[in-house]
Amino acid sequence: MHNSWVPYWVLLIVLLACNVAWANDDHKNKLAVNKVKGSLSVMVLGSGGPVATAAGRASAAYLIFVDGQPKILMDAGGGAYTRLAESGTNIKDLDIVLLTHLHIDHTGDLSSIMKTAYFHSRGYNLANNAFPPGRTAPFRIFGPAANGAKFPPVLNANPDTTQYPASSEYVHHHYDLNSGMERYLNIFSRAISGGIFKYETTDVSPNWQAYNPEVIVNENGLKITAVGVNHGPVPALAFRIDYKGHSIVYSGDTSTKGNNMIALSEGADLLIYDTAIMDDLPNGANDAVFFALHTTPSRMGEVAAQAGVKTLVLSHITPITESRLKQVKQLITAKSFRGSVKVAKDLKVYNLTDD
Ligand SMILES: [Zn+2]
Repeated sequence: MHNSWVPYWVLLIVLLACNVAWANDDHKNKLAVNKVKGSLSVMVLGSGGPVATAAGRASAAYLIFVDGQPKILMDAGGGAYTRLAESGTNIKDLDIVLLTHLHIDHTGDLSSIMKTAYFHSRGYNLANNAFPPGRTAPFRIFGPAANGAKFPPVLNANPDTTQYPASSEYVHHHYDLNSGMERYLNIFSRAISGGIFKYETTDVSPNWQAYNPEVIVNENGLKITAVGVNHGPVPALAFRIDYKGHSIVYSGDTSTKGNNMIALSEGADLLIYDTAIMDDLPNGANDAVFFALHTTPSRMGEVAAQAGVKTLVLSHITPITESRLKQVKQLITAKSFRGSVKVAKDLKVYNLTDD
């Protein structure tokens, strides 16, 4: 006897399979990478600073998409690797790395992100039946040159030791084939059929006392400009990215002494700013060092207003500012900034579209 009814267990399996498919679709739609659109976008990989807190923010890192492709990494703080994974982005063709300064909350995950680019290359090749060599382009790494600031005598350092190395020295000490601590990457990338490990590094003057913007990349309509900014004794840069009429400026960490941030941010669509401190500090004069390193909300408001930026994004959020972001916004708008103020969060995508 043939029963024309589909057995209930077949229906059950079909229903379960649909559920899994829907769940997968849903997961895919929610991935940050699928929110990227238009010619220029920034994905926040880390909206925090150097303090690990229950707010769960990764340290400073931003991924810039050019025509929808992840091309530029701005800083690579701890936790950025995890956020990159969660974002669903394949970075096999990541091209440019911009380091604002060499504090660990801006550099900690650099090696893990570079390494995974070769695994992404390998994965892409396997999926597309393509074969080695895979990724062969170098990572083009830009960061501040040294600035000559020495340690105080109490530490008895060598007299010519600077507090911070040049970015090229930092990078070579990691990856140089003969002397780098992570020199294994030079063979590892080949061993996994991920590609050929290469990098180039360029030091940019961190002088903040004059406005000497340096155009460090200018190709195919993409322009990246770097300028020195004050971050106490730390050699530090801010960056501006211009593409197809859109622009993103990133302050890195800075006290915003001088007017370089105003000049660099002129008419920018999006200005991502170091939001580490308030106008007053919880620990009074004992916290004075923070004023030498970071920007008060009032100063941020002045910069954004004078430069005429469209959107100010508060990021590098610390335990000092986390619970007072409303007050930060009030202090900014009190300086006559009339653009929009947004609070960054990890995996948020800002698309600069024409509409
Ligand atoms: Zn920082």
